[in-house]
Amino acid sequence: MFGRAPKKSDNTKYYEILGVSKNASQDDLKKAYRKAAIKNHPDKGGDPEKFKELAQAYEVLSDPEKREIYDQYGEDALKEGMGSGGGAHDPFDIFQSFFGGNPFGGGGSSRGRRKEGEDVIHPLKVSLEDLYNGTSKKLSLSRNVICSKCKGKGSKSGASMKCSGCQGSGMKVSIRQLGPSMIQQMQHPCNECKGTGETINDKDRCPQCKGEKVVQEKKVLEVIVEKGMQNGQRITFPGEADEAPDTITGDIVFVLQQKEHPKFKRKGDDLIVDHTLSLTEALCASQFILTHLDGDLLIKSQPGEVVKPDQFKAINDEGMPMYQRPFMRGKLYIHFSVDFPDSLPPDQCKALEAVLPSRTSVQLSDMELDECEETTLHDVNFDEEMRRKQQQAQEAYDEDDDMHGGGQRVQCAQQ
Ligand SMILES: [Zn+2]
Ligand SMILES: [Zn+2]
Repeated sequence: MFGRAPKKSDNTKYYEILGVSKNASQDDLKKAYRKAAIKNHPDKGGDPEKFKELAQAYEVLSDPEKREIYDQYGEDALKEGMGSGGGAHDPFDIFQSFFGGNPFGGGGSSRGRRKEGEDVIHPLKVSLEDLYNGTSKKLSLSRNVICSKCKGKGSKSGASMKCSGCQGSGMKVSIRQLGPSMIQQMQHPCNECKGTGETINDKDRCPQCKGEKVVQEKKVLEVIVEKGMQNGQRITFPGEADEAPDTITGDIVFVLQQKEHPKFKRKGDDLIVDHTLSLTEALCASQFILTHLDGDLLIKSQPGEVVKPDQFKAINDEGMPMYQRPFMRGKLYIHFSVDFPDSLPPDQCKALEAVLPSRTSVQLSDMELDECEETTLHDVNFDEEMRRKQQQAQEAYDEDDDMHGGGQRVQCAQQ
């Protein structure tokens, strides 16, 4: 400092107002201000004078430059304009730039001119294992925060000018010729002031944010995926989206997207898994290891139990854990297929016939057999054939469009 040394004035009051010691760290100051400002906010029935004092004390002590002046020369030195920025700011502005949003959750504000910031929605891919076991994922995001140096004003002095590009409206109108007698009028945010309606004198620009009012900040968010959460479920971080002046900061919302699992299907709290047994296992009991989402499960059938193709069996409490009640679980359904042999040698058939239940077909007399035409079965892909036939019928119908009843056919009665 050159020239006349300012006279010393009170330099402890601000610390007393916030209830911190003279060597309090920035963190201590923040904590003290946060607690006291919420308690004394006029919207919550607090004393407006006390609220103003808190804001003033915090504004000075949170700025290292101002704090130094205050510590050395006291309150009067700041009032004389030694600190950059000079005079006291609106206590509501200080409160709001501190919280970035309204900590009381919208409404209630005596000012009510703040815009709602947009929520930022991110899909978050998770595996079925993640939803089954629960997990946490650390995600690094960059976002805009209100510049701490200028408190979101963009200028050193706090002043701004009306934008000449849009006359302060923040919007510009452009006209596009669409045809000889047709024009389209389009309104879009002014590019010179980014829709804010104001500009800042070059010399007055805040050196930290270059007049942008916000700076980029990297932030790591830890997303806790709880056991039993569902595909599509939202995990919200309130007030963590981009900050902007006079805007209630929106939320960051993660929307869970479950990746398809190669083995398990999920239906609510239940799980479904396919399992194929050999014919012997299906008939003569089985024991197999099923790799579950958290380890192996030994599954044994009862002695004498037969599993039929396409049959379902269930195991209780081996499905998904229930959300927020993870000690309760759904069912695990096993859908069985049976792998039949493609053919069997005649001697094996004889051996099987000796142990399997007897044939159901009735014995036919020679006379009855004589009256039958003999035929054999052949392999067919039924679904494929039906699809082809339907397609042919559709094509024939399309061709015969103008001939009614084009598909008349003679039915031969068989006796
Ligand atoms: Zn700034
Ligand atoms: Zn403009």
